[in-house]
Amino acid sequence: MKVLVLGGAGYIGSHVCLELMEAGHSVCVFDNLSSGTRDNLFAGEKFIEGDIMNPSDLAAAMADGIEAVIHMAAFKAAGESMEAPEKYARNNISGTINVLNAMTAAGVRYFVFSSSAAVYGEPEYLPIDEKHPKNPENFYGYTKLEIEGLLAWYDKLKGLKYAALRYFNAAGYDIQNRVTGLEKNPANLLPVIMEVAAGMRSELKIFGDDYDTVDGTGVRDYVHVTDLAKAHVSALEHLARGRDSLVVNLGSEEGLSVKQILEAARRLSGQAVPAVTVARRPGDPAKLVAGSARAKELLGWQAEHSDVDTLVRTSWQVYKSRMKS
Ligand code: UDP
Repeated sequence: MKVLVLGGAGYIGSHVCLELMEAGHSVCVFDNLSSGTRDNLFAGEKFIEGDIMNPSDLAAAMADGIEAVIHMAAFKAAGESMEAPEKYARNNISGTINVLNAMTAAGVRYFVFSSSAAVYGEPEYLPIDEKHPKNPENFYGYTKLEIEGLLAWYDKLKGLKYAALRYFNAAGYDIQNRVTGLEKNPANLLPVIMEVAAGMRSELKIFGDDYDTVDGTGVRDYVHVTDLAKAHVSALEHLARGRDSLVVNLGSEEGLSVKQILEAARRLSGQAVPAVTVARRPGDPAKLVAGSARAKELLGWQAEHSDVDTLVRTSWQVYKSRMKS
């Protein structure tokens, strides 16, 4: 298929593009390079520098025989979304409406959307399956939930076939080391730890060590970005076979604590990785773990590279090349 990848120069987008090309699809990357980078563009891709806030950029990109859109062009910092909700409303919600309307106008029927476990909010039970109540704790999660609602309506009214993929914590880098672009100003745990290991920042701040978890630090379900990327290809092919739209969790179904990741990073990098414990970050639940049975049933998908050593080793192979001596 001819696939337009919005945000394809970003961290997850670049991995998705690699998997699409490996599966024989033709890829057009559309990115405004606000957080993506040209380092993440690959031979064989077409690249359009454009913005989802600009409907004419989208119309031009879709005029070229595009059959499907994968949409990852969004802001994703939960903390920032609470301070600057207008930024998230504009880009994540209005921007996605622009995308859906451009698709409708161009007759593009298949849509794969980056949703998030942030739609659930504070867990009422674990593991979290797709039926879990949706009460986002932050505005970022609300934007994802809002878009899922729009997608159901565009399916009903316009025949859009979509897959909303609720990512748990994306982490790691391409196992073959083909992705080398670093995230700009990361706020997520593993890239922050990697920046400390590589001498790019002084210390990790551990946001609380008094949670009711294995060692007091927050537990999350980390899923390798290549596993995530493969799910996008499977979801697209599922829709193209004429199947119904779907909403699935993508997680490893395993929990890892902040300290478990930190220890693995120290061991695998051989670096000291200084860390201090600070106050809890508002809105952070103690523990999030996915139930991903639906993805297995509908897409035949399960995480294969999401063990802690693979997550850390593949990240370190990228960050160590940037080490400050
Ligand atoms: N975390 C931390 N220090 C950091 C970043 C994150 O201790 O600099 C913790 C955070 O409290 C949570 C886990 O690491 O328990 C994962 O946080 P992240 O921001 O990566 O993802 P989230 O689960 O919030 O989407």
